[in-house]
Amino acid sequence: MSPGSGDDPLVQVHDLRKYYPQADGVLDKLVGESADVKAVDGVDLTVDRGETLAIVGESGCGKSTLGRTLLNLEEVTGGSIVFGGDDVAGLSDREMRPYRRRMQMIFQDPLASLNPRQSVGSILTAPMEVHGIGNDGADRLERARDLLERVGLERGHVDRYPHQFSGGQQQRVAIARALTVEPEFIVADEPTSALDVSVQAQILNLLGELQEELDIALLFITHDLSVVRQVADRVAVMYLGEIVETAPTKRLFAEPAHPYSAALLSAVPRIDPETRTDRTLLTGTVPSPIEPPTGCRFHTRCPAVIPPAEWGGDQPAFRAAFAFRNRLLDGEVDRDAAAARLGTEDAERIATYIIEQSLPVDIDELPADAAEAVREAARLAAAGDDDAASERVSEAFVSPCETDQPDRVPAIVPGSSAADVVNADGGWATCHRNDPDAPGTATIEE
Ligand code: SF4
Repeated sequence: MSPGSGDDPLVQVHDLRKYYPQADGVLDKLVGESADVKAVDGVDLTVDRGETLAIVGESGCGKSTLGRTLLNLEEVTGGSIVFGGDDVAGLSDREMRPYRRRMQMIFQDPLASLNPRQSVGSILTAPMEVHGIGNDGADRLERARDLLERVGLERGHVDRYPHQFSGGQQQRVAIARALTVEPEFIVADEPTSALDVSVQAQILNLLGELQEELDIALLFITHDLSVVRQVADRVAVMYLGEIVETAPTKRLFAEPAHPYSAALLSAVPRIDPETRTDRTLLTGTVPSPIEPPTGCRFHTRCPAVIPPAEWGGDQPAFRAAFAFRNRLLDGEVDRDAAAARLGTEDAERIATYIIEQSLPVDIDELPADAAEAVREAARLAAAGDDDAASERVSEAFVSPCETDQPDRVPAIVPGSSAADVVNADGGWATCHRNDPDAPGTATIEE
C-alpha cells in the first residue's frame, strides 16, 4: 500500500479537538464563563501501517497536544480516533489497556521519561509484565537484552541506570522501551531535539531502520523541517491547532501549496543551491489560540494574503497596508512611546512617525485612497483614539482571507492544472490560492 493512499489506514482521525478551559479566576468560575484554549481544533489525518507521517509547525501550534491526544493521554474534547478499526477516543484507562500495548510514545527528553531509580532491565521488563509478554522474568530479561542490542546498545546494559548513559544512549533505551510491547503505532514527540546533531542522525537512522523492519506506523512530531526530509513519507503542517497542508515529503519540499508551509520551508538550509529560495520571514505575533483569527487563521501573518477585488494596487502594497492594520488592531502602535521618542506632542509628527514605524513600505507605494486611510488612522492613533484608528483601518483593508474560511482543496502546484493533481498525491491545502472558486482569487498577482 502506498503511504497516504487512504486504503485501510491504521489510524484515522476525524475532527479531533482538544480544548483547555481557562476559567481560572474566581469571578470566571462564579459566573460560569470561560474561554477555551483551542490547542487542537478539528484535525483530520490518517497514518498507514509502516508509514511515517511528520507533524510540523512552530512551537505552540498544538502538535505535541495532538500527539498526546491521539494516544488518549489527554482527554479528548471531540472527534474520533479510529485505531485498527476501533474508535478509541475518550476510552477510560481500563478500556485503553488493550490498545496501550499497540500504541506507544517516545518523548523529547529521554532522561525525564526514564525512572532514574530503575535499572534498564527493570525499565524494559516492566511493560512486558503489565501486558503479559514473555513466559517468566528470565525470558523477559532475555528479550530486554535482545532489544538493547537491536537499538545499538550492549546486552550487559540491562544492569545500568539511566544516568549512566549519554543523551543519545538514553533515547535508545527509551526507544527500546517503546518496542518492548511490539507496538503497531509510535508517536515520537521531538525525539532528537535534545540531542547533539551527530547523535540526532544516528537516532533518526535507528528509528527508520526499526520502523521498516517492524512495519510500525510512526507519527513524528518536530519543529525542525530539516529532519523531516530524512524520516517522513508524508508531512502534515500545523498552524494554530489546525492542519493547513498535507503532502508527500518530496512534493512539500519542492512545491509547498500553503504559504505557511512555504515560509517554514524557506528557513530550511538547502544543499542544492539551485533550489535555494529567498527566506520568508514571518512577521506579526502568533495569534491567541483562545480566540483564533476568523477566516484563514494565518491571515494576520500571511505574506500572500489576498487583496479584495476592488483593491487598486498590487499584492505587496496590500500586504503592507494589511500589516499596518494588524499592528493597530493588535495594540502594537504606542503613541505615548512615539511622543516620548520624538520629544514632542505634535500630533502630525507623531502620526508620521507611526506610519514610518508601522507601515512596511513607503506610503507613496499605496494607492491614493489606501494611503489616505493610513494617514487618517495614524492621525487618530496620534490623537490617542485607538478605537477610531482601528475602525478606520478595519473598514479600509479587508481581505477575503479574513472573511471566508478556506476549504480543504487538492494542492495545485505551479505548472499543473487542477485536473492533473486532484488526488494525484493525496495532498491538500487550506488556502484560497489553491481554490479557483474562492472569493478574491481572481485578483492574485504572482
Ligand atoms: S487563505 Fe489567504 S491568508 Fe490564508 S494562507 Fe491562503 S493566501 Fe494566506
